[in-house]
Amino acid sequence: MPDSVSDPVANACPVCEALLGFEPWKGESASDEICPSCGIQFGYNDARRELRAAVYDEWRKAWLANDRKPFLGEAWRRVSAEVAAAARRSSGRNRAT
Ligand SMILES: [Zn+2]
Repeated sequence: MPDSVSDPVANACPVCEALLGFEPWKGESASDEICPSCGIQFGYNDARRELRAAVYDEWRKAWLANDRKPFLGEAWRRVSAEVAAAARRSSGRNRAT
């Protein structure tokens, strides 16, 4: 039985905890898929490893404020930019770059 394929922890969205049916990341290899529940794209929005935890945190806040609806189209572009900026700010406390 292929337990690893249906592992609910490995297949859960790190932002909204939805079960994805795929692993967002396998090691350092991103799926390039989009979570249908919150709209984050693995390998794009969370591409920078040092910002990943902050990106997930900021995206979750935005998603909760959006009544837990996924970001699509224009809203996705806006929230992508906002989350990237917020993640850089929050990690700027311990990084000079
Ligand atoms: Zn999600």
